[in-house]
Amino acid sequence: MSAPVKKNDRLTVYIEDLTHDGNGVAKVDGYPLFIQGALPSETAEVHVVKTLKNYGFAKVVEILEPSSDRVDAPCEYFKQCGGCQLQHLSYEGQLKWKENMVRNVMQRIGKIDAPVLPVKGMEEPWHYRNKAQIPFSSNEAGQAIAGFYKTKSHSIVDMERCLIQTGEADAILAGLKKELAAIGVRPYNELSHEGMLRHVVVRKARATGEVMVVLVTKKKKFPQKDAAVATIQKLVPNVTSIMQNVNSDKTNVIFGDETVNLWGKDVIIDTIGDVRFEISARSFYQVNPEQTEVLYKQALDYANLQGDERVIDAYCGIGTISLFLAQQAKAVMGVEIVPQAIEDAKRNAALNGFTNTYFEAGPAEEVIPRWYKEGKEADVLVVDPPRKGCDEALLQTILVQRPKRVVYVSCNPATLARDLRILEDGGYQTQEIQPVDMFPHSTHCEAVAWLELV
Ligand code: SAH
Repeated sequence: MSAPVKKNDRLTVYIEDLTHDGNGVAKVDGYPLFIQGALPSETAEVHVVKTLKNYGFAKVVEILEPSSDRVDAPCEYFKQCGGCQLQHLSYEGQLKWKENMVRNVMQRIGKIDAPVLPVKGMEEPWHYRNKAQIPFSSNEAGQAIAGFYKTKSHSIVDMERCLIQTGEADAILAGLKKELAAIGVRPYNELSHEGMLRHVVVRKARATGEVMVVLVTKKKKFPQKDAAVATIQKLVPNVTSIMQNVNSDKTNVIFGDETVNLWGKDVIIDTIGDVRFEISARSFYQVNPEQTEVLYKQALDYANLQGDERVIDAYCGIGTISLFLAQQAKAVMGVEIVPQAIEDAKRNAALNGFTNTYFEAGPAEEVIPRWYKEGKEADVLVVDPPRKGCDEALLQTILVQRPKRVVYVSCNPATLARDLRILEDGGYQTQEIQPVDMFPHSTHCEAVAWLELV
């Protein structure tokens, strides 16, 4: 098909949908135009900036009929920063859009008819992220800058605050760059590979209030470390741990292999529900703990444990869901591909005094069939795979072994729908799907699905 519009055309369009990047979608004779900043149900005058064979891009000239859910984005950096996509949509509007998105994807991709419940959102959808990874650099005048990246780019938007991060992260964002020159620390420059300070990572435990600040430096030798520690203590008086991580490589990966303690404790402690977790500089941990608790409570509800079940938690990470389940199950076996995460899971199980958990590192699709062969069977199986969904071999194992209940925690509705179809064709019935908003102002949506063998 040839494009019905060409570059520099101006036209009036009706916006039908939103993409995963948060762009509005309009159709011109069936040809999709992606329009930054436009919202569903709006009519807008747009200017075509690029056309490809099957789709094109346009910019808003004027919103002629705004959506009733449109709001002024509260963040002054929203238009440049790539962190949030939906601040111009009211939070209620975001939740409505996510609910419809999950329902449409279930029907379109999986032909799944199970009820999709309204999204469980946050009461106060701001300052929810417990981990900020702030890149530092310098501008043309040689002054330090710090902020977050522009969409799909590595250029930093210099900022003083971020509405989804903690106050402690803001204190580092706004304060540390002003102090760097005085203490003689040069920010790192990605292009010249010169300078010292690459990133500052700020982590906060919501339940205990403990705060960790990690300085990622180019070299281990860090002569200004005492001054850096004193500055951080001044900016973040409640800091409990200050760490240095060394990354000497030309890379955009944040962390290097070596981490040393500069001051205070090596870890911070957080709790989700009644379970305690130890978080170190590099350990994986959910970034929205308040909603993580909502998500895991839902998974636990759907698992409907009476106390005598054996449960498998596939893709268990540091065992967060496993330990939640272990409170109500006879035994929980967790499997995860990253060995370090399994070490964390075992430590956290011990920290909480659990004796009914077992963790093993390896690919779920290989470890679980072996467990079954060894007689380690499960009544309930929980999966929480990465965005690409469950491995086909794991789904086949479920269909052969037939645990009576499956709880599927998903961060990608499209692969969830695909996998639910496979499970339904193999004898399971999806009972209910509960979406949970873990990332307000982004287009992401998590969902928990509950399946029973019928
Ligand atoms: N359930 C955890 C983590 C979920 S994220 C939590 O809620 O915190 C998905 C996890 O799957 C990641 O930790 C990733 O390392 C792991 N993973 C990816 N592929 C895997 C595989 N083939 N087998 C086992 N784990 C895998």
